[in-house]
Amino acid sequence: MAQQVRGVVARGKGAAVGIETIVVPDPGPGEAVVAVQACGVCHTDLHYREGGIGEDFPYLLGHEAAGVVESVGEGVTEVGPGDFVVLNWRAVCGDCRACRRGRPWYCFATHNAAQKMTLLDGTELSPALGIGAFADKTLVAAGQCTKVDPAASPAAAGLLGCGVMAGLGAAINTGNVGRGDSVAVIGCGGVGNAAVVGARLAGAARIIAVDVDDRKLATARKLGATHTVNSRGSEPVEAIRELTGGFGADVVIEAVGRPETYQQAFYARDLAGTVVLVGVPTPEMKLELPLLDVFGRGGALKSSWYGDCLPSRDFPMLIDLYLQGRLDLDAFVTETIELADVEQAFARMRDGDVLRSVVVL
Ligand SMILES: [Zn+2]
Ligand SMILES: [Zn+2]
Repeated sequence: MAQQVRGVVARGKGAAVGIETIVVPDPGPGEAVVAVQACGVCHTDLHYREGGIGEDFPYLLGHEAAGVVESVGEGVTEVGPGDFVVLNWRAVCGDCRACRRGRPWYCFATHNAAQKMTLLDGTELSPALGIGAFADKTLVAAGQCTKVDPAASPAAAGLLGCGVMAGLGAAINTGNVGRGDSVAVIGCGGVGNAAVVGARLAGAARIIAVDVDDRKLATARKLGATHTVNSRGSEPVEAIRELTGGFGADVVIEAVGRPETYQQAFYARDLAGTVVLVGVPTPEMKLELPLLDVFGRGGALKSSWYGDCLPSRDFPMLIDLYLQGRLDLDAFVTETIELADVEQAFARMRDGDVLRSVVVL
């Protein structure tokens, strides 16, 4: 039977979000209902509320979540009731041209639940990134649920569902950071600082964090940056070169998503080095670079979608490293809050006061 639970809904562009009663249907074929235990507040949620992603209001926000599977629909075998899962927004299809070539992390046909959650009056909700987890319960595709060790704290585990995975994966999967590499990370919000952690986990010898906010740089240092550069005070390309013997870093991760910072990343890497773009640009942005430099400097210019993660491979492994004390996911949880506090958390996030506020249910 369909259930009525609380959910945080954005009704219109720029309007404050609020708690509303939402209707969660029973899971249909290939679907699962998950009792949410924790869900992080991400910039993307704010972006939905501001109309920056589309006009499909009302949105049910929240997408960095962990919880327990309550029920599953017909044909679901990979997870079952009682499983502790991290939700992902790229459930791979197994059948598209990327999946068929053995590269499922690029899946071009990821999917969500077929049924819709609604408001009490029947209005269909658009769940953020196909999840909608600022809610007591949510309906997702079973492939969006990845079973992990239930010993992990839900608040920490849920963060793997989006920003932290994007940053870790930008370093480990896309950037292919190896032992002894020098790595620079431009932009040290939640994603950038997760890239710092990923670089450290992968064995980077020198990790240079760049930001305009000294508070973020202090956090980067705590998380493993060996050097920090405030790009308000010094020219970041010069600073990164100076810290790498005059050459530039082997891997530069751009976690801002702006042409200026992309250019910095491009010139701050060593010859044959790698640039990873994980910051998300807006549609009007344009990049201009001398084509001769693109050719002459060699190396690789890559984009990182969701850290090129494969949830079934990466989530359980990263949770194991977390439980062994080798990956400090708790460091990303600045504060835990209630469902009613999401609007205030947006303001703190915008002011750069928090890495992550996490709603705990
Ligand atoms: Zn696919
Ligand atoms: Zn997110």
